[in-house]
Amino acid sequence: MAINWTEAQIGEIVAAVLKEVSTESVASCKWDSTSYCGRKLIGIYADMNDAIAAANEGYKAVRAMSVAEREKLITVIREMTREEASIMAALGVAETKMGRVDHKTAKHILVADKTPGTEDIRAEAMTGDDGLTLTEMAPFGVVGSITPSTNPSETVLCNSIGMIAAGNGVVFNPHPNAIATSNYAVDLINRASAKVGGPAVLVASVVKPTMDTAQTMYKSPLIRLLVCTGGPGVVRAVLSSGKKAIGAGAGNPPVIVDDTADIAKAAKDIIDGCTFDNNLPCIAEKEVFVFENVADELISGMMRNGCYKLTLDQANALASIVLDEVKDESGRVVKHVVNRNCVGRDAKVLLAKMGIQVSDDIRCIIAEVPFEHLFVQEELMMPILGIVRVKNIDEAIDLACKAEHGNRHTAHMHSKNIDNLSRFAKAVETTIFVKNAPSYAGIGFGGEGHTTFTIAGPTGEGLTSARSFTRRRRCVMADSFRII
Ligand code: NAD
Repeated sequence: MAINWTEAQIGEIVAAVLKEVSTESVASCKWDSTSYCGRKLIGIYADMNDAIAAANEGYKAVRAMSVAEREKLITVIREMTREEASIMAALGVAETKMGRVDHKTAKHILVADKTPGTEDIRAEAMTGDDGLTLTEMAPFGVVGSITPSTNPSETVLCNSIGMIAAGNGVVFNPHPNAIATSNYAVDLINRASAKVGGPAVLVASVVKPTMDTAQTMYKSPLIRLLVCTGGPGVVRAVLSSGKKAIGAGAGNPPVIVDDTADIAKAAKDIIDGCTFDNNLPCIAEKEVFVFENVADELISGMMRNGCYKLTLDQANALASIVLDEVKDESGRVVKHVVNRNCVGRDAKVLLAKMGIQVSDDIRCIIAEVPFEHLFVQEELMMPILGIVRVKNIDEAIDLACKAEHGNRHTAHMHSKNIDNLSRFAKAVETTIFVKNAPSYAGIGFGGEGHTTFTIAGPTGEGLTSARSFTRRRRCVMADSFRII
């Protein structure tokens, strides 16, 4: 009997098989920062100075390419990213122990599909009585890029597409905890280059990234632009380097739910966004402020979407597991830092750490907590959501802005009241503001617009793309070249 599969069904089966194959191959083969399954990774150097020199040669080769050739190269990078998405996803989870293979696969496909290429680079012309002035977006040269552990290969690929589209070379100082995954992506770019007759090494990285290799990058005269995606420490370091820098820093995105929202949808959207890649994306929902007259309904909706609700005592106990205290000399707690063994872990794993066993369909931990609670104040990057009841929109906006800590990164709201939506958007001043959708709609996943994994709030580029990595140059032709 013939079976008539639909295209979507075939796609699902292929994806499931590929996922199994890649997860198994990652588990059964040897990999490190220089090789994957016996294949030597291309463009990885022991010395950062050698990596910078190689990236400089890559830059010269990119400069010699026509725009059409650059775009052809980017097309191949997109194709290979799609083909190898599930391998990089499985490798990322195996190496960092953070996140989820299915969601990381989706993130790579998003990078392949929605990272702008050369079409993002547009010249401007101005004409008038005095002739023609042309402004073009020129490359900087070699870009030094610092990338995080939370979206390692995604950031390397997304940065590379944008930076190459703009005509730059790139050298990476990836996060040490995700170096094999990041360098796999560097190698992918170089394999793509070889396929289109480009240089053998187009982008480069190092075997063992450290603070010292980052310093070498900051000081090298060949590096004309630094791009940093990471937490507050590294963004500060890069912005103090004395070089032109783009900083994409930490967030702690609050969500407001008012009593005009579609509460069932809000509950699902918030949990879908919060649990995406186990809350690793910097844009993911981190705490909720809900009107008290709809709070019970929202929490019930969340429970129907795979949540486990903790009591306040249990929430306090979990907070002391997932966060470490930092004390001053007198023993006073001065701050908390996330326990790296908990970041990006499954809700089930986090609950097991406090002796609670749950089934696999539990994907998020929720708790009603006071505003001061660590679940509200700290950027956990775990599928844990603190929920605070508020009386009205004034209190909601006030507390949500305070919880965002002035990062001006990302905020979300579920409401049908346009006055409330506008008031919060204006007050919180974030780079991304998502209305009535999961957080990932803000980076083009189920929302309009391009994607990026480098959201530059502190330095103002916003959702970076090729044009963010360019410098404007003006050419003036006095008195001529008008056609009217
Ligand atoms: P992290 O801050 O621990 O590390 C980022 C990179 O910086 C790594 O390569 C690390 O080795 C390096 N580094 C850290 N301190 C440094 C210093 N002083 N000098 C030189 N290099 C240094 O980041 P992570 O834990 O991998 O990522 C999570 C953080 O990054 C979160 O705060 C998250 O919000 C943020 N993030 C922001 C964006 C964005 O687009 N704005 C994207 C992803 C992650």
